[in-house]
Amino acid sequence: MRFLCTNDDGILAHGLDCLVRAAEQIGDVTVVAPDREQSATSHSLTLHHPLRPVRRGEHRFQVDGTPTDCVMLAVEALMDTRPDFVLSGINHGQNMGEDVLYSGTVSAAMEGLALGIPSVAFSFAGGDLRADIAKLDEQVELLVPLLRHLTSLPAFPEGTLLNVNLPPLRADEIKGIRLTRLGRRVYSNSIQPMQDPWGRKIFWIGGGEISWTGSDDSDFQAIRDGFVSVTPLHLDLTHRDMLETSERWWRAP
Ligand SMILES: [Mg+2]
Repeated sequence: MRFLCTNDDGILAHGLDCLVRAAEQIGDVTVVAPDREQSATSHSLTLHHPLRPVRRGEHRFQVDGTPTDCVMLAVEALMDTRPDFVLSGINHGQNMGEDVLYSGTVSAAMEGLALGIPSVAFSFAGGDLRADIAKLDEQVELLVPLLRHLTSLPAFPEGTLLNVNLPPLRADEIKGIRLTRLGRRVYSNSIQPMQDPWGRKIFWIGGGEISWTGSDDSDFQAIRDGFVSVTPLHLDLTHRDMLETSERWWRAP
């Protein structure tokens, strides 16, 4: 089993180290990851300057690019053989609901899927990684059987990536694994007005309060209830139900 591991928090991130430790118990791991944090870069691709991979060890590369760049470069140029799976994460922070649209972690898995490789994104839904780092470490042993299960499925769901969120709990406090749908994230006061050193008004996106809504089978509810959340996602954003009702709203001009 060959794994490509990447992330959006950068190659030095503790979550990537945890993911690699879990994957190495099952197969061979190549790491191609951004040289710095690329959180919330979504699925962006670097077109206007070249990418320079730097070898940091055997089968370890850092790249001055986005998570999507890393997956593309790894599969098309750096790896001798295509990976059997792309694993992305473990992100420092949850990727639930609309987060998946901004997330570099999830987008790396999307790129794996776009290249025809089964892909899984992992995120640790803890608010303060410094306080929770022991819990993240503990969950490495829990990840191994989960990874073993996902990678031994007779048919990994076609055209689908799996978005896994881990609850910020000790391993023995986790109640199980729940298959979920995306919830909804509600931000308030997430744009902070400030002044730059010259007294000019600036704005900083971040902070504020996050609340979540969603059905009982949503990702955030699973995390709230103490379960690992596994959400199947696909790349086709077509609203199929609306197509079926097109005669009510669309008349060809
Ligand atoms: Mg991140």
